[in-house]
Amino acid sequence: MKSTQNIIFLSIILFSLFSCSEKEKAIPKLTKPNILFIMSDDHAYQAISSYSDKLIKTPNIDRIAKEGMLFTNACVTNSICAPSRATILTGKHTHLNGKIDNKRPFDTTQVTFPQLFQKAGYQTAMYGKLHFGNNPKGVDDFMILPGQGSYINPNFITQKGDTTITGYVTDIITDLTINWLDKKRDKQKPFMMMYLHKAPHRAWWPRADKFKTFTQKTFPEPESLFDDYKNRGTAAKTAEMNLLTHMKYGHDSKIKPETMENMGGVEPKVPSIRGFERAYSRLNEEQRKLYDPIIDSINNVFKNNWPTFNDKQKMRWKYQRYMQDYLACVSSVDDNVGRVLDYLDESGLSENTMVIYTSDQGFYLGEHGWFDKRFAYDESFKTPLLFKWPNKITPGTTNDEMVQNLDFAQTFLEAAQIEAPKDMQGESLIPLLKGDTSNWNRKSVYYHYYEYPGQHQVKRHYAIISKEFKLIHFYYDVDEWELYDRLKDPQEMNNVYNDPNYADVVKEMKIKLDELRVKYKDSKELDKKYLR
Ligand code: CA
Repeated sequence: MKSTQNIIFLSIILFSLFSCSEKEKAIPKLTKPNILFIMSDDHAYQAISSYSDKLIKTPNIDRIAKEGMLFTNACVTNSICAPSRATILTGKHTHLNGKIDNKRPFDTTQVTFPQLFQKAGYQTAMYGKLHFGNNPKGVDDFMILPGQGSYINPNFITQKGDTTITGYVTDIITDLTINWLDKKRDKQKPFMMMYLHKAPHRAWWPRADKFKTFTQKTFPEPESLFDDYKNRGTAAKTAEMNLLTHMKYGHDSKIKPETMENMGGVEPKVPSIRGFERAYSRLNEEQRKLYDPIIDSINNVFKNNWPTFNDKQKMRWKYQRYMQDYLACVSSVDDNVGRVLDYLDESGLSENTMVIYTSDQGFYLGEHGWFDKRFAYDESFKTPLLFKWPNKITPGTTNDEMVQNLDFAQTFLEAAQIEAPKDMQGESLIPLLKGDTSNWNRKSVYYHYYEYPGQHQVKRHYAIISKEFKLIHFYYDVDEWELYDRLKDPQEMNNVYNDPNYADVVKEMKIKLDELRVKYKDSKELDKKYLR
């Protein structure tokens, strides 16, 4: 009897040993974490409910904060698409990586962090919008949109040539991402995946069902929608990004060319801005059937009301149309982030995967009467940043330190135990993620925007920003300084640079600004070099 018991006992041990090793073979225990970097394009923190639920609920993006950490003071070094991406990839300010604006080419001989992951044995991939003319380096697999890409039936650049996929871009980028994670990658290796949305970039084109739902909604207006730019300098007054005067009925608000013509040309024709025609022409017949009734209804409301509208009413109508389309695009991003998070949970990958959600910069959602980005003022300077990393980050935590997109590369490299090049200019956020702020000594950050003259005509400026103050120097064709008291005037309505009460602050901030320019290797010589 005893020997039978022993045999059974031994069998159980052998069986469990065998099944354990089988299981381990199927899911290799990786010592290094996977990295899933999710970035959208122009996604304002005001449109993520972890930050504010005034405009929209984003339950899926919020999951990252609920299971991890929300950064309330994350910001960029240069608030425009391609320069932000160059900073993220190189871990350097744009005056050093050379991608100071959207026009100049990106120098591909530089070290970018995906190359370092690839060298260290990671599987690397990039799906979605890169926004450089060049193919990405350091990724084993990629499918990227050419330039800005299209919302409908988008083209993709791949290693095997170009291809077009029928459908809605946000859904497609997600399908491709999940497919790579599930079927295409080498599961014996950790992965670093860059999952990059085109949405919610202008010209906003929602998926048909979201378009229908969101055109029925009305959104609260920001307090500064009718800002007259009093107490601000020339740059705010001359920028061309006002909803009333610069947002286009055709390009942005879905007013058809024939409606415009029948109404005697509602606005002057701008040949280079043909968002409506460009997007609409990509729709196939089946898709047009879904969009046409919604577009017709918008056009009918416009035809009936526009001739009687005063400027204030036009502004309000444009703001609602803007929010309806922008937030509908955001809603699709949120749904799709949820799909990827679900996949990670269901496949057992979540536990060993660091997930980051961010945008390449912030965006004005009617604050100061604006859309677009570029300024060092908060809505475009700040960017959403949410991290999730089970067993490393305490769920539901927030951090209010001034962290920048400059810090991402070094953070990912430290998480993966890969040495960062000495000339990267950021700081790893790993201690902050683990709740240790004791050695975080950064009190202010440096900002430099260049793309002027250019679209939206936001003047060149550099700035130093601390939690308390923001000092901005606009230059090129002006020489103007602005100072904002961030605690007393969070909406940045009053430039107090010439207020005698702030004379000491100005003096101190100028010294610190000079120190930051030295620290980050920016200089008058470089300012001049980039003037050419
Ligand atoms: Ca952008």
